[in-house]
Amino acid sequence: MNRIPLLVANWKMNLNAGEAAKFARAFRELIAPARADLGQRFEIAIAPAYPALDRLGQALEGSGIGLAAQNVHAEPSGAFTGEISISMLEDLGCRYALIGHSERRRIFGETDLAIQAKAKRLEESPVAPILCVGETLGEREAGSTLEIVARQLDTALDGASHGLASRLVVAYEPIWAIGTGRTATPEIAQTVHAAIRKTLIARLGSIASDTRILYGGSVMPSNARELLSQSDVNGALVGGASLDPESFAKIALASLETP
Ligand code: PEP
Repeated sequence: MNRIPLLVANWKMNLNAGEAAKFARAFRELIAPARADLGQRFEIAIAPAYPALDRLGQALEGSGIGLAAQNVHAEPSGAFTGEISISMLEDLGCRYALIGHSERRRIFGETDLAIQAKAKRLEESPVAPILCVGETLGEREAGSTLEIVARQLDTALDGASHGLASRLVVAYEPIWAIGTGRTATPEIAQTVHAAIRKTLIARLGSIASDTRILYGGSVMPSNARELLSQSDVNGALVGGASLDPESFAKIALASLETP
């Protein structure tokens, strides 16, 4: 199995280019003791707001830390005011792009089909998708978590090729845990992640045994180690706690303390 933990910072609409460069300098120092482990025992990527991608990329040069985008448009170019294309992200050296984040679905009305179109386009690109899925509190309370998550995966990955399967990352982000300080228990995370892996294997074949499934939703230095110790939790997508270099470094380093 090749599932080195992946820690992704999602800065959302926070930190300008100068602040991002400052973060990078501090963060590089904080994780310097584990420099040799980067890319071997863990991987880190940061998704800043678009205007900070270039400066952050420069500030991370030579660090092994990757760049990620918070979203991308499915079309290669054209009249799509306010959007950004996959080739623009490639040009900036992005390793990953989030697709289907719950804030995109909920606030901006992105549908499973729109997310499927993005996944398809990313098949032809070196930018790997981090496909976000997760249920609302009402859906959890109604007992439909696994059904909702399976539907989101099935639609987004309909027609996905083997090529996509080998690069895909999935992030399970229960909506009730995002930005609320209410984290899924390690048991809940493991149960849903195991179900996600089953769905992925059924759809994409045994290659999905290697797919990294990240947990996201109020991950903090205090809960990271326990969450990351679950066998199907292969990293974390971190919002609020990734805005501070010290707390994100603690979370990233916690992944090295897991079995
Ligand atoms: C997120 O929005 O991807 C996220 C996980 O946020 P937070 O860590 O703040 O809950």
